[in-house]
This record gives sequence, C-alpha cells and structure tokens, in this order.
Amino acid sequence: MRIANVAGRSKLIVGEGQVDIEAATSGRFSSEPSRIFDYFDELQRWAKTISHGEEPWRPEEAGPPVPAPKQIFAVALNYVAHAAESKREVPTAPVIFTKFVSSLTGPVTTVELPEGSVDWEVELVAVVGTAARHVTAAAAWDHIAGLTLGQDLSERQLQRSGPAPQFGLAKSFAGFSPTGPLLVTPDEFDRPDDLGLGCEVNGEEVQNSRTSEMVFSIPEVVAYLSNVLTLFPGDLIFTGTPPGVGMGRTPARFLNRGDRLHSWLEGVGELQQTFA
Ligand code: ZN
Repeated sequence: MRIANVAGRSKLIVGEGQVDIEAATSGRFSSEPSRIFDYFDELQRWAKTISHGEEPWRPEEAGPPVPAPKQIFAVALNYVAHAAESKREVPTAPVIFTKFVSSLTGPVTTVELPEGSVDWEVELVAVVGTAARHVTAAAAWDHIAGLTLGQDLSERQLQRSGPAPQFGLAKSFAGFSPTGPLLVTPDEFDRPDDLGLGCEVNGEEVQNSRTSEMVFSIPEVVAYLSNVLTLFPGDLIFTGTPPGVGMGRTPARFLNRGDRLHSWLEGVGELQQTFA
C-alpha cells in the first residue's frame, strides 16, 4: 500500500492515480492522515481491492505522510563510510538523537537558510505502525507501518560548537525535516532492507548508497529504542545518512541560496528542496 497526505487528506496512491480514502469508503476510514494507524491493517486489506485511481497524483501537492508524529528519532553515524568522513569511530551501539516535530514538512519545499553552514543528509525514514516496548529485533518489522524518504538537514556550526554537541537544535530549524512523498508498506518491496538512495545538488550526484550498508538495521534500531522507551504509532525514525555529506568533503561544501537539492529512495520517490 502506498499512502500520501494531499492537502491534509489521506490518499491511496495506485500507479499514477490517487483515491480519496474517506470518500471512496463512504467515511469508513477518516480523511485525517494522523488517524491511519488506528485501522492500518483494515485499511491495507481494503487497499488491495482498489486497482486504479481516477485523479492524477502530483507529489508536489503532498504534505508529510505523517504530519504530527509524537516522536522523531534519528540515528547518527549509521553507515561505516559516513562515520569515516565524519572522523568518528563506528558505533558499537546505536547513537540516537531527536529532531523536533516543528521542523517537519512535505516533499517539495523551499527552505530558508539560517546563518551558518547547512548540509544535506539523505535518509530512509521508518514509520512506526503499532506501539513497541521491549520488542526483539526478530519481531520489530511487525511494528513498522512503512518506509518513507527524508532529509536530515543540518546546520553544522551549531551542531558542533560549544562544549557539548547540539544535534537536536542544529537539525530542527524550520523546514529541516522534509519527508515523503509516500508512506510505502514493507510488503511493496522485494527487499525492504536493501534499497538504493541518494541525492544531487544542482544536478550533481553527492550521495548514492544502499540501505543494506547500515551499521544497525531498522529492526536493531527499533529493538534498541524500545528497550529504553515506548515507540508510538506514527513515530518517525531517520535511520542515518550514507557517505557524501558536504562537511566530509575537501574543501567542505554547504548549501547556498538558489541551490536545488534532489533526493531519492528506491520504491518511495523523490524530495525536491530549493534554498532561499
Ligand atoms: Zn542524519
């Protein structure tokens, strides 16, 4: 099942077409994107009966697939080559930080650049479907509703200045968490743990990797987090960025006004950010 949030309404995406979930089910399911987790399995059974959507689907009209998650987690240094370019050790346990929900947007946006050095980080984002507490890695996929694409935009000066790093703030400026365009359920992928992802700045490829390169897989991160706290339906987990970020280059390269950042994740779609 592929779900989008279009103008604040839940849509089922079938091929190039969209179906309004509330209208097509005469109100059996809500139009409210945040409600899909209340009846996700039932929704998925219904979705299998729909073979096409009349109305064309335009990703540029989409909002974030999950507009109001309770919690947004992110994993630092989760690809070996990104740890190396960051001049850090490869972690022996997941290193977790948070992004604040006010930074969340849809897939096609203009981002106002704050002062400093703003960098790109393309990431697969796992979406929690059912509450998880003390789950094992073996059971963790059962708690994942689906996958989407995100950028973990990062202002490196704030991130690294001061006596302790400021990951949460530096990665939570307004517009710093674009997500989308779709929430895609795991059954839609042949291998949901091995997807290509990457991004380009002004048409030049800067990141291109596979999610199978992660140090800690989605199930391992879910198990780790759920042993500390409760994961709630709709929570987002940014799973870390592969190598190729701007701060890892010589010389370092950061985003400027007018730059276009195009990100992609196999089977999910694309993000388009312009910087102003
Ligand atoms: Zn990141």
